[in-house]
Amino acid sequence: MPAILEKIKNIVGDAGIVPQEVLSGRSAGIWDSSPLQALALVRPKTTEEVASVLQACNQVGQTVIPVGGMTGLTGAHRSSTADIILSLERMNTIEELDSQSRTMTVGAGAILQNVQEKAGEAGLMFTLDLGARASCTIGGNIATNAGGIRVLRCGMMREQVLGLEAVLANGSIISSMFKLLKNNTGYDLKQLFLGSEGSLGVVTKAVLRLHEAPLHIETAILAVPGWDQVMTLLREYDSTLNGQLAAFEVLWQNYYDLNTGSSSELDPPLSEPAPYYVLIDVFVSDDTYDRSRLEKLLMQQLENGQIVDGILANSENERHKFWQIRENFDPEQKKFGLIYGYDISLPIAKMPNFVDSVTHSLKSNFPDAELFSFGHIGDGNLHFSVAPGAAQDRAAIDQLVYPPLQKLKGSVSAEHGIGLDKKPYLAYTRSEAEIELMRQIKRTMDPKGILNPGKLFD
Ligand SMILES: Cc1cc2nc3c(=O)[nH]c(=O)nc-3n(C[C@H](O)[C@H](O)[C@H](O)COP(=O)(O)OP(=O)(O)OC[C@H]3O[C@@H](n4cnc5c(N)ncnc54)[C@H](O)[C@@H]3O)c2cc1C
Repeated sequence: MPAILEKIKNIVGDAGIVPQEVLSGRSAGIWDSSPLQALALVRPKTTEEVASVLQACNQVGQTVIPVGGMTGLTGAHRSSTADIILSLERMNTIEELDSQSRTMTVGAGAILQNVQEKAGEAGLMFTLDLGARASCTIGGNIATNAGGIRVLRCGMMREQVLGLEAVLANGSIISSMFKLLKNNTGYDLKQLFLGSEGSLGVVTKAVLRLHEAPLHIETAILAVPGWDQVMTLLREYDSTLNGQLAAFEVLWQNYYDLNTGSSSELDPPLSEPAPYYVLIDVFVSDDTYDRSRLEKLLMQQLENGQIVDGILANSENERHKFWQIRENFDPEQKKFGLIYGYDISLPIAKMPNFVDSVTHSLKSNFPDAELFSFGHIGDGNLHFSVAPGAAQDRAAIDQLVYPPLQKLKGSVSAEHGIGLDKKPYLAYTRSEAEIELMRQIKRTMDPKGILNPGKLFD
């Protein structure tokens, strides 16, 4: 066993280290079934163990890849046989739920869904929500500054973290575990770790902000005849529902058809076809709430042609089924084999033309490729998945997407981060001066470059 692993074993014990030969039993990611590669996977139990492991690795320049649930979609958690993977899986405790200050203190390995459920038991809500909720961790959510389906109303992960503890590459522990909403005492250092993709430190704990839970959530799915109507609906729901609109997702027709088609387990809930389908969630927090108002709004929208069909979920089960159409892309995409995911931001008014023009250039270059669009459109976040067909040339497809996006002053990553897959395109959204400042911060916090090297930038 290499000397560094002997040293780490002394810190974390036998149960805290999984050697290389056993790792092939684990897969490299939630959507990547290839065997996990690493010198070893290390599973510390405490912040002090994390600090000692990093100190030992830093001394000998051993590279370390921090990981949570490995659900990231940009290759930011990818490792090689030379790396040590530092998994937070045993640091998953929910330490405290403080209903007075509406905070929860958790280990970075806590699974998002467990955090949501724990908050729910206390009549509170942790508002971050995304499709990978059952596997992703709070540490990963912090390191990617995750977004998801509630950003429109509640903001990204950045807004949900009040306090944070992290360990730097040299083993020093930076603790800022405050429960305060307001704390203007110099630089807000914890924010450095939000979106840092494991490159500046290992997040070990966090104080999360909770909100009052709504009494219930109304969900509707609408068939919409055009993009102008999509934009009008967004403004109309936002203004008439007094800020209670909590999700506004759009599915392009081919995405909806794929997930509700004959080979899917899901039935189409709407009978009228349309170019766009909108899925909305409305938080109901008032016990005098009158459901007929929403029903009337839907009727009016039908009458004046803003929608061609629409249905309000009548049960929790039905809500879940509507959401499955949005979130169930995984089994459907398996039949295409390889899929390239895109996660971009651009002004909402420009989205349909952008999708049409990328589809057109894709088809002209790669006739058997397919593109499926959907996304958190309420916050300007468009996703699309490309099934590349025979071409399988990601760089060539990227060239059909990112240069036109740059002209529109869009972002090459709305919420998934940069990782490895988008590294060549960071400069499409960030200036050279910004990237140089990022490099300086990295050099200051991790001078030997042991933490997640080669991710974000070289
Ligand atoms: C079905 C599905 C739906 C998704 N939907 C969304 C969505 O709506 N919005 C969204 O934003 N993302 C989404 N994602 C992407 C992904 O779930 C998020 O990026 C998530 O936040 C990653 O968490 P994780 O624990 O899996 O992190 P990992 O994938 O393990 O790691 C991601 C990055 O965080 C770093 N990291 C992990 N833990 C730590 C730590 N403790 N300290 C320091 N660095 C760490 C890693 O080094 C890596 O750079 C989705 C993914 C899937 C598979």
